[in-house]
Amino acid sequence: MSTVDADLEITETPAQAPGAELTEARVARVGDMTVRRLLPLRLRRSVGAWCFVDHYGPMSVDGVTGMRVPPHPHIGLQTVTWLISGNVLHRDSLGSEQVIRPGQLNLMTAGRGIAHSEESPAEHDPSLHGVQLWVALPDASRHTEPAFAHHAELPATGIGGFEVTVFAGSLGGARSPARMFSEIVGAELAARRDASGSLPLAASHEHVIFVATGSARVDGAPDATVLRPGQLLYLDTGREQVGVSAAAGSRLFLLGGVPLGEQLVMWWNLVARTPEEIEAAVADWRAGRFGTVAGYDGEPLPAPPLVALRSPRRP
Ligand code: MN
Repeated sequence: MSTVDADLEITETPAQAPGAELTEARVARVGDMTVRRLLPLRLRRSVGAWCFVDHYGPMSVDGVTGMRVPPHPHIGLQTVTWLISGNVLHRDSLGSEQVIRPGQLNLMTAGRGIAHSEESPAEHDPSLHGVQLWVALPDASRHTEPAFAHHAELPATGIGGFEVTVFAGSLGGARSPARMFSEIVGAELAARRDASGSLPLAASHEHVIFVATGSARVDGAPDATVLRPGQLLYLDTGREQVGVSAAAGSRLFLLGGVPLGEQLVMWWNLVARTPEEIEAAVADWRAGRFGTVAGYDGEPLPAPPLVALRSPRRP
């Protein structure tokens, strides 16, 4: 998806429990859709290499256009598209054209540059619910060739009544076939019944957990907080497991990775290291140098007016 939100100046909740922190999503607009933006935070630009988390829906798209995100560019990241309900059509400047459905992964590696569009197909399901995630490419990989992969089947494992589908990295013995560029994990936890289990974690990873449907209790959350949609729980490195319980029908996400240790400059749909790189990418987009997205019926997204970008803060 595409964001025009360059304003990251938000209030941040301070840590309320040792090594844990609970923050609230801000509401953002993506085209006609309202989304819950959980990352980035002003003081936490990435968790592992995960640098952007939008949760949208569930919403009715019955008899209306639905999602319509015109062609726009990306650099320096991978987009991870995951649906809980509905269907979305992806097209990109490599010529890819792919409908995605729940339980499947669309993984687009922007590398040095790609353009794509996302829209509800003409004949689409009546509801839409999903997450749009970005993974920052580490400095050594961020100029790689652009690529697109669709994974129709992903490994799953059962933990305490949760069906755990692993779409990035590995968890509980299940390993995603998706090609990632850093030590990372991404999984969906669906409570098939009232579920309670201990998720194995890599101690070298930091993690976030958020709820898309229902609610959950997570060990280590401040004051035995019941997590609900629109909240993000951050857990620091050094944990080898986390206890999670949720009522039947709840659906959660676990994202994590080794702290990136790199200062990102993020603006619009671009992830770089300096303001100059962002400005160069915007100039490339305005000059048509990202290529065209064949088949999309409409004009590409214009880049918003450039703002004065700050160089990354020093750690
Ligand atoms: Mn996008």
